[in-house]
Amino acid sequence: MNRRGEPNQPQGQPTDQAGRFFDAASEPVPSADAGARVPRPFLGIEFKCCRTYGRIYRNAEATRYQGACPRCGCQVKVPIGPGGQGSRFFSAG
Ligand SMILES: [Zn+2]
Repeated sequence: MNRRGEPNQPQGQPTDQAGRFFDAASEPVPSADAGARVPRPFLGIEFKCCRTYGRIYRNAEATRYQGACPRCGCQVKVPIGPGGQGSRFFSAG
């Protein structure tokens, strides 16, 4: 996976969200490095509405990936199933 250049990574999340930030899916657990920011897992996705590619990020509750098309801003949500993601790439739109 390309882990460079995380765009618009929010900083200073509220502690009540950070405490629940647990990944039960397939992303490798980053080393607990003195409270460093945890990279948010994302999903590569094709936005069919604009035939473009982008990323959507997992929500704080780890129930789904969600984001918006970078061109038209349409909302995309991908539920996370009980067994985690079977595929690492989705299309939507
Ligand atoms: Zn679009």
